[in-house]
Amino acid sequence: MTVRRPLRTCLGCRKVQDKAGLIRLCRTAEGWVEPDLLGRRGGRGAYLCPDERCLREAEKKGRLARAFRASASLRPGTRERLLALFAAQREEGSRPGDPGGGDGGGRSIGRER
Ligand SMILES: [Zn+2]
Repeated sequence: MTVRRPLRTCLGCRKVQDKAGLIRLCRTAEGWVEPDLLGRRGGRGAYLCPDERCLREAEKKGRLARAFRASASLRPGTRERLLALFAAQREEGSRPGDPGGGDGGGRSIGRER
């Protein structure tokens, strides 16, 4: 009855971690690396800890390109977006056992399409 959680390796520090704690990256047809927030984009994905150092390592060592098996780089502005995501992810990660989603607010939010 062991529940296996999906594990992925961070491109920066090479540590194997719970996929839920990592940021998934994908590559556009044009060769840009973008965060894949919903994890729904097809194709190859790469994973990073929510840590700027890991992002830098991955870039420096050309691991992004290797992970995607094609040239891949960050578009201007994507780094800032990633850093904001990292911060948000770390905050979320500090709440243990939260299944996610509900913030208990009074307002009901329309369904996303
Ligand atoms: Zn890492």
